[in-house]
Amino acid sequence: MTEASGLIVRYRDRLPLPAGAAIISLSEGDTPLVRLQSLSDARRGIEVFAKFEGLNPTGSFKDRGMTMAVSMAVHQGARAIICASTGNTSASAAAYAARAGITAFVVIPEGKIARGKLAQAMMHGATVIQITGNFDAGMAIVKKMPDEAPVTLVNSVNPFRLQGQKTAAFEVVDCLGRAPNYHFLPVGNAGNISAYWMGYCEYAESGLANARPIMVGCQATGAAPFLRGAAVAQPETVATAIRIGNPQSWDLALAAQRESGGWFLAADDDAILAAQKYLAENEGLFCEPASAVSVAGLRAELSRSAIPDGATVICTLTGHGLKDPDTAIAQSTEPIRVGSTMDEVRSVILDSG
Ligand SMILES: *Cc1c(COP(=O)(O)O)cnc(C)c1O
Repeated sequence: MTEASGLIVRYRDRLPLPAGAAIISLSEGDTPLVRLQSLSDARRGIEVFAKFEGLNPTGSFKDRGMTMAVSMAVHQGARAIICASTGNTSASAAAYAARAGITAFVVIPEGKIARGKLAQAMMHGATVIQITGNFDAGMAIVKKMPDEAPVTLVNSVNPFRLQGQKTAAFEVVDCLGRAPNYHFLPVGNAGNISAYWMGYCEYAESGLANARPIMVGCQATGAAPFLRGAAVAQPETVATAIRIGNPQSWDLALAAQRESGGWFLAADDDAILAAQKYLAENEGLFCEPASAVSVAGLRAELSRSAIPDGATVICTLTGHGLKDPDTAIAQSTEPIRVGSTMDEVRSVILDSG
């Protein structure tokens, strides 16, 4: 049994980790493309697949970036890492720091952090620093912290994060055997859309794909700086992972949209929760609210016939639904309470027909 697994091993020749550097890995990546049967349309030839990133080791795509960022930090002698986070970055940073035997400091906004994510950061032994401000306020602080204290920043402004995350695009092409026509994904801090575009471009330039997809960036209506064309001071959405008003990878994300001929769209909280429920009930896929914005966006575009016949479409489901049990339970029906008798349980079954 070898320990050599994970995306750095798989895509080593395309990643800038120096030879001889230790690989800090939890066997991230290699997530499935699941065909969305209820959104694919045999008549129109449209094929829709979810890239289910919730199946990474800590339950979100952040692990792809974190394996690179933490391996690099350790290689450069770091003893501590820091990030601002709406939740998933802190969960991932905490786990990879634990793996590496170094310290993680995570700065989170007050309230508004899904309980599963907080549990992860705490359980992995990170020092959790809760500030009174929102994610953007935390980001402004941690960006300057490497000048103030011996810590390495592992938010997606760390270039090694995007390097790791670009491998998701490689996997899509490796799995389909070609590039998809469209790629819908949630946009918060905008690192991931930038990373996918980098990955698709690299594969096209190397001749491993003969085309690049059109990138469609999906935001929540209450946190949609790309639709406004400017930062949003008080972002608000149930999709806490994309509750970000001042995206750090603004220029890269805009370039991805323009160069790919794509666009940005926004879905409101009702549409996001409806898409999350739809995926859970119709496809058996449980993603977190922020992930569902990609499918909410696709559903809107399909209904206005913006996707041509014969297209292959990918939606990235960025994180697992178990991250945010409170939001899931709040939108579900209560259990039916009965006594412990055959009669009562049977009558529930027979009545439900
Ligand atoms: C981080 C995150 C996003 C947003 O990704 P960005 O790279 O910040 O645009 C979306 N969904 C989930 C579940 C996330 O954890």
